[in-house]
Amino acid sequence: MFHDRLARLRGNPSSVHAGGREARAWLDEARERTAAALGCREEEVLFTAGGTESIQLALAGAVRAAGPGKGLVTSVVEHSAVLAAAERLEREGRRIVRLGVDARGQVDARAVVAALAPDLALVSIQAANNELGTLQPVAEIGEVLRRAGRGRAWLHTDAVQALGRVPLAHLWERVDLMTLSAHKVGGPPGVGLLLRRTDVPLEPLLGVGSQEGGLRPGTESVPAIVATALAIELAVHEQALYAERTARLCRSLWQQLSTKIPLAEINGPSIDEPRLPNTLNVTLPGVESRTFVVRLDLEGLEVSAGSACASGSLEPSHVLLALGHTNERARGALRLSFGRESGEEDVHNAVETLGRTISSAR
Ligand code: PLP
Repeated sequence: MFHDRLARLRGNPSSVHAGGREARAWLDEARERTAAALGCREEEVLFTAGGTESIQLALAGAVRAAGPGKGLVTSVVEHSAVLAAAERLEREGRRIVRLGVDARGQVDARAVVAALAPDLALVSIQAANNELGTLQPVAEIGEVLRRAGRGRAWLHTDAVQALGRVPLAHLWERVDLMTLSAHKVGGPPGVGLLLRRTDVPLEPLLGVGSQEGGLRPGTESVPAIVATALAIELAVHEQALYAERTARLCRSLWQQLSTKIPLAEINGPSIDEPRLPNTLNVTLPGVESRTFVVRLDLEGLEVSAGSACASGSLEPSHVLLALGHTNERARGALRLSFGRESGEEDVHNAVETLGRTISSAR
């Protein structure tokens, strides 16, 4: 019975035969459950092929739909998916305003408002930074934009790192577009979400589309979307517990690390400031992070140098440099994060391994 139902997940929701109708029912239920978990309406949930596509659709879709010559405001610490989308729009001759950040990596909401102009149709500011764990004042920016009334710029937030780590329902009340990604919360890679208020016009990326409200073409990946809905439900349900547990581990990690390695420096917000609970970015003395992550991996400790997505490059992280740090400090940055299964013994092991590896590297 169960296997029969699962087999029907392979159906095409646009087909009218029984298999198609069953796939449609799965897809509808996945959308309904996702919307309920995130506190939005079903028609506001668009499934895409990843966070990167959702970001492209939000940025290029909103700005192109606003007309020729329209541009956007963003920040210099966004994920490379946002930076790349903005660069592409710039090559179309559109104006892109890139705002700087303070020493914690935070954008000033007043600077966003001051940058607004009639030719800027969209503001795109991340909810939380993937490298530093900095939380951005997106709700505050949303409040100001709402007060500005009709004719204002739309607000998109890349909340990929925030899902399951900080509450998002209050944020959705203040933005027009929100990007999420399934694989950041244990769902399948290759599924993203774009939450979109239905009054925000978007131009489809591929120029055609009859799926997802006419914004994407192609048969929906129903099995992956169903798994995504379940992962999101779980992430939202467990968010408070996860945040409390990983924040405790992060605090313990920093306390032990700064005792054992006195010249260790934290990048981004201090441990006591509001931050993503599970992520810590540190520079350790004498460490060149790109080679150090390989040594650590051999020791069984998986950490990232800067952002995972940028770690294939030789350049120091654009986020670390945006904080005003030297190349040397940026090149020594390690990103340590905890998952659902992590515990206090992982903190102890991580500190031991880091200390031992630094000593042997010398
Ligand atoms: N935005 C942020 C902040 C991310 O951390 C990531 C992925 O790491 C993305 C966007 C891209 O999402 P995806 O990997 O689903 O394309």
